[in-house]
Amino acid sequence: MDKLIDPFARPISYLRVSVTDRCDFRCVYCMSENMSFLPKKELLTLEELDRMCSSFVRLGVEKLRITGGEPLVRRDIMTFFQRMTRHLDSGALRELTLTTNGSQLERFAQPLYDAGVRRVNISADTLDEEKFAKITRWGRLPQVLRGIDAAQKAGMRVKLNAVALKGFNEDELFPITEWCAERGIDLTWIEVMPMGDIGNEDRLGQYWKLDDLRARLAEQYTLTDLPESTGGPARYVRLEETGQKIGFITPLTHNFCESCNRVRLTCTGELFMCLGQEDNADLRSALRNHPDSDAPLEQAIRNAIARKPEGHDFDYSRQTVDGRVSRHMSHTGG
Ligand code: SAM
Ligand code: SF4
Repeated sequence: MDKLIDPFARPISYLRVSVTDRCDFRCVYCMSENMSFLPKKELLTLEELDRMCSSFVRLGVEKLRITGGEPLVRRDIMTFFQRMTRHLDSGALRELTLTTNGSQLERFAQPLYDAGVRRVNISADTLDEEKFAKITRWGRLPQVLRGIDAAQKAGMRVKLNAVALKGFNEDELFPITEWCAERGIDLTWIEVMPMGDIGNEDRLGQYWKLDDLRARLAEQYTLTDLPESTGGPARYVRLEETGQKIGFITPLTHNFCESCNRVRLTCTGELFMCLGQEDNADLRSALRNHPDSDAPLEQAIRNAIARKPEGHDFDYSRQTVDGRVSRHMSHTGG
């Protein structure tokens, strides 16, 4: 079967899937306090998610990242992970992984490992309990730390994702780096992106340029650029003193689109070909209208990939949030 190649000759081998728009946290840069969530019938069922992902795997997707909202608050989500194990066993899928806030990991780390998950991205922007409660509104740090421990104990490699927020976690740059080094945890900093209406938070005020963060890191450590690229917006350096790998996700300041290998599926079955563009394809109808055949779905996927744009339009440089997209990160999946 022909693999998925977009109009700019980029092979599409990475699918990110949001399995729910719901979450047990309300991070200030991600959600407003009173979010309204989608009615259940809009969501793909676990069986439909299986059909979707399996079709993508047949078309050459080798890496599947499950996200949300908070993926681990979706009822019965372990059943879905366990079903995906067959694609790892067959060798078609190289990696099954997830991005989580960590709140449910204490109980799910071992079953996830048993389903074949070997790496997990856990989001935490601060290691201070009070600040953590403030930024996540509903989250509690000790619960997340227990989740991180459980993931490591189960044998998973952990990466901490921290959103760089001006005036919020600037002072934790070195404490967080050291904390991760002590535990053998990789660390990636993410620039805040202009996504969705989040109430009256001031996004420009939150924006901490990663060039600045990197320069500050270089005052204390020797940074060596690493050539590896995952086809996404992350760039990596090694801190020579600790051997640690630090990532920078800078969708706003650097163009990474030329090597983009990914697409994103929402929990309602829309496929977004680019995180920074509104264009999307409705895959749910192709799936629901043809319960007995995946051929129409595969055709719909091919048609969508043929529309993948060359790049995105985010731009903070004129001091307005240009190129802003109206949907929330929790909808498309971060
Ligand atoms: N709930 C899970 C979590 O927090 O890891 C998965 C979904 S969350 C939307 C995925 C990632 O997106 C998190 O690391 C989060 O910090 C990040 N994120 C959310 N809103 C963002 C924004 N406006 N700009 C940059 N990153 C954002
Ligand atoms: Fe939930 Fe993740 Fe968004 Fe925070 S960033 S509100 S944990 S979906």
